[in-house]
Amino acid sequence: MSETIFDKIIRREIPADIVYEDADIVAFRDIAAQAPTHVLFIPRAPIATLNDLGDDDALLVGKLVLAATRYAKARGFAEDGYRLVVNCNRHGGQSVYHLHLHLLAGRQMTWPPG
Ligand code: AMP
Repeated sequence: MSETIFDKIIRREIPADIVYEDADIVAFRDIAAQAPTHVLFIPRAPIATLNDLGDDDALLVGKLVLAATRYAKARGFAEDGYRLVVNCNRHGGQSVYHLHLHLLAGRQMTWPPG
């Protein structure tokens, strides 16, 4: 996988508003927030897209989801609700090819998405 801007955020080479990190995951505020809370949860491992996940990544995917849901509960918006989104490739609207989970909260979401 070629290097992305998220690798630079992980290595602290460019600034980001990091709100959570552990051995496997880094989470930081999206620079172009689409909701009052918009945080990206990314694996430290350089996985480009959902299509690049294998059986060995099942635990990592679970950790990503749990990190996001724990964050939602800790910040007090779990009850009102939120949205988790993963965009994959061109039709999915992916623009950064380092796997990331969008956590969007703080406003009413609409469905279907555009
Ligand atoms: P996606 O379109 O699903 O690939 O999402 C990529 C997200 O990364 C977009 O919502 C961007 O606003 C966000 N983004 C790009 N560069 C940065 C950055 N330097 N810091 C924080 N978020 C970023």
